[in-house]
Amino acid sequence: MADFDAIVVGSGCAGSVAAYEIAKAGKSVLVVERGNFAGAKNMTGGRIYGHCLRAVFPDNFDEIPFERKVSHERISLMSPNSNFTIDFASEDLLKDGQESYTVLRAPFDQWLAEQAENAGAEYICGIAVEKLIKDENGKVIGIFAGEDEITADVVVLCDGANSLLVEQAVGAKRPPASQMAVGVKEVFELPEEEIDKRFQCAPGEGTAWLFAGDATHGSFGGGIIYTNKDSISVGIVAGVEATAKGNVPVYQMLEDFKNRPEIAPVLKGAKLVEHSGHLVPEGGITTMPELTADGVMVAGDNATMCVNLGYTVRGMDYAVASGQMAGQAAVKALDAGDTSKAGLKCYVDALEDSFVMKDMRQFKNVPNFMEHFDRMFCGYPEMIRDMMNTMFVVDGSPVQPMKKSMMPIVKGAGFMNLFKDVKGAMKAL
Ligand SMILES: Cc1cc2nc3c(=O)[nH]c(=O)nc-3n(C[C@H](O)[C@H](O)[C@H](O)COP(=O)(O)OP(=O)(O)OC[C@H]3O[C@@H](n4cnc5c(N)ncnc54)[C@H](O)[C@@H]3O)c2cc1C
Repeated sequence: MADFDAIVVGSGCAGSVAAYEIAKAGKSVLVVERGNFAGAKNMTGGRIYGHCLRAVFPDNFDEIPFERKVSHERISLMSPNSNFTIDFASEDLLKDGQESYTVLRAPFDQWLAEQAENAGAEYICGIAVEKLIKDENGKVIGIFAGEDEITADVVVLCDGANSLLVEQAVGAKRPPASQMAVGVKEVFELPEEEIDKRFQCAPGEGTAWLFAGDATHGSFGGGIIYTNKDSISVGIVAGVEATAKGNVPVYQMLEDFKNRPEIAPVLKGAKLVEHSGHLVPEGGITTMPELTADGVMVAGDNATMCVNLGYTVRGMDYAVASGQMAGQAAVKALDAGDTSKAGLKCYVDALEDSFVMKDMRQFKNVPNFMEHFDRMFCGYPEMIRDMMNTMFVVDGSPVQPMKKSMMPIVKGAGFMNLFKDVKGAMKAL
């Protein structure tokens, strides 16, 4: 007999939710987390959409330690000497089930782990699982945790981006550098009312702000700013391959971004309290591994269930939802006494039926489109700057008709390029 009904590796969004579902059904479940506590090693921008958490925690959703409810969506096109920003606010962004929240992973992940523990899950923290135990037929039957061998009828891998264990479990290759981004982020403390004032937000409400262009010195990626209760998260997410080929390291991009005249005043007087870095698997379905094998399922970032659309980054809601479905599938398979690949097919079916795989399929062309959308990072921000300058710079010389002043700017970017890019964006998004 196995030591546990189930083992979950990793206690991020996917892992704790999977463990919560399994424990809630009365099964024994062990969570093994390499960080010293849940949330210690986790990172996001970030904002999470509420719908996924409402589905898991309908009764105690209001207790989740969110930072702010996002009421302002900002997108900026940054050239070396200008910044064009759209600020969108809408009542629809605030409605239950459509709303999103900024989060800090340490308190958020600890809360998720607490729910799993309260439901009966056991936790071991501070140990990295380096190897899976397989039986003579190749079925996963447990893990090596430090010196210990621990067995279970089913193992759920929720160990995040670039997983070595997924390679062992389902034979998947790790995603190529072209489909991975690296994120660096700093958190700055500032009094709550000061953040309200600087971002023109009502108390409790906040801003999600994404930047393309000079934030990454014109290479593939972008800048991010999220307002928390009494802190601001500021970061850069940059394509690994593009950054390796370029000559500006990511830490320098972040330094330069913070010193921009549009950003520095927002951070003035704020105290740096946290610094973190993490990989972002942006390949979506193009890099997704098999989701099950005998005795094992994979969920969240390790299955590259993450998309960067330029105007929003999503991974946490996919991780929560896939963790929930993996947990429920584990219970079903345990009850049926069949945790083989065939017995775990209900996990894949549930994912296929849900927004997770539907979105992944919808966004299948996004990674390739974004990777080759160079003009979004260097070209269009400059074009927008020149157009705006035409409208807003008044120096006493006679005004040209709009058509005459705008045409050369658009021509400079190339009508065909614009047409191709709009068409490409329509197709990919
Ligand atoms: C800079 C940045 C900005 C982002 N912005 C957003 C955003 O705004 N919105 C959004 O939805 N998503 C965003 N994402 C993506 C999002 O953070 C991830 O999709 C999400 O965290 C995935 O959750 P997960 O549970 O799959 O993985 P993780 O949260 O990474 O959890 C994996 C866990 O497994 C543990 N682990 C790893 N290996 C082992 C091992 N061998 N043994 C034991 N434990 C192990 C880790 O310590 C960790 O706790 C962003 C990511 C980054 C890096």
